[in-house]
Amino acid sequence: MQSFKYSSATDAASAVGTVSANQTAKFLAGGTNLIDLMKEYVERPSELVDISGLNLAEIRSTSNGISIGALAKNTDTANHPLIRQNYPLLSMAILAGASAQLRNMATNGGNLMQRTRCQYFYDIAMPCNKREPGSGCGALEGLNRIHAIFGYSDKCVATYPGDMANALYALDAVVRIRGTNGQERTIPLQDFHRLPGNTPEKDNNLQHGELIVAIEMPKNNFANKSYYLKVRDRASYAFALLAVAAALETSGNTIKQARVVLGSVAHKPWRSPEAERVLIGKPATETTFQAAAEAALKDAKPLEHNGYKVELGKRAIVLALQQAMTSGAA
Ligand SMILES: Cc1cc2nc3c(=O)[nH]c(=O)nc-3n(C[C@H](O)[C@H](O)[C@H](O)COP(=O)(O)OP(=O)(O)OC[C@H]3O[C@@H](n4cnc5c(N)ncnc54)[C@H](O)[C@@H]3O)c2cc1C
Ligand code: SF4
Repeated sequence: MQSFKYSSATDAASAVGTVSANQTAKFLAGGTNLIDLMKEYVERPSELVDISGLNLAEIRSTSNGISIGALAKNTDTANHPLIRQNYPLLSMAILAGASAQLRNMATNGGNLMQRTRCQYFYDIAMPCNKREPGSGCGALEGLNRIHAIFGYSDKCVATYPGDMANALYALDAVVRIRGTNGQERTIPLQDFHRLPGNTPEKDNNLQHGELIVAIEMPKNNFANKSYYLKVRDRASYAFALLAVAAALETSGNTIKQARVVLGSVAHKPWRSPEAERVLIGKPATETTFQAAAEAALKDAKPLEHNGYKVELGKRAIVLALQQAMTSGAA
């Protein structure tokens, strides 16, 4: 690991000030992603500003919904009564990720910021435009079994690997940020992560030095009919090959509102308005769910080794919607 300067922040303003003043400085939260990347020489920050002592871990009701602190641990978030009761989809998604030990360390802000699990990104002997812009993409012509089927470019075919963000997208979350000018701003979760285009080194729309302070979600009517389905190589402690965050609001058996967000199929959580359009106004039956699944995967463009994700995605959507119909708040 390359040597670096370390300091522990006592307030958000000074943390933002220190990181924004140094282009190669980074915030350190739980460290479960950043330290791994530093050990592999994928990330080489000259300075770490430890934010884990900041007072940003509160989870509280707001007039319009809920606010979740950026430094709340994944475990505390998933198990919080307000989340379990009102946003069970988020609990399910978080608990589907990593391991209990990791979730005890991992924070919500760090979770949103986690980097791709593309194997070429982690291997500094291989070309990777995300790690080293202009060096090429090892996965494009290499092994791309875990890679994207939507929204990729010829510069990068990586996926965003996280689970939590897929549920947050389905639940209309916004990310509250402290800017480098000391003002706060929000980014809807749907605009937080970005597609790779010509600049795959940029995972999201946060500017250097900006600090995530909270994630907010409005009230919704999905608590009784939502489900997070994660498909992976092992039953636990593995990233998703593909995931579905599904949420329904029904009146009788008719679908009034729907959310279908696919995970690990693109460089960002991938919402399917096509599937949602098929669902809304229709009876909640397997036939409807199958039509929605066909619509969701219609425009998928698999790479050489990940064609399986198309059929898998269809089956996962049908199953997730069926499970959503029988689920209830924890
Ligand atoms: C073996 C293993 C398995 C895993 N499996 C899964 C899985 O199945 N699903 C899943 O979703 N995740 C999984 N993860 C990833 C894990 O969820 C993330 O590592 C974790 O959420 C990152 O949070 P952290 O607080 O440790 O972030 P850190 O490692 O401290 O930071 C990560 C990045 O976020 C930045 N950052 C942190 N906080 C803020 C903030 N408030 N504002 C701005 N920037 C910030 C840091 O500068 C850094 O760049 C796994 C990780 C490991 C090691
Ligand atoms: S897919 Fe993206 S992260 Fe993976 S090697 Fe290509 S450029 Fe790098």
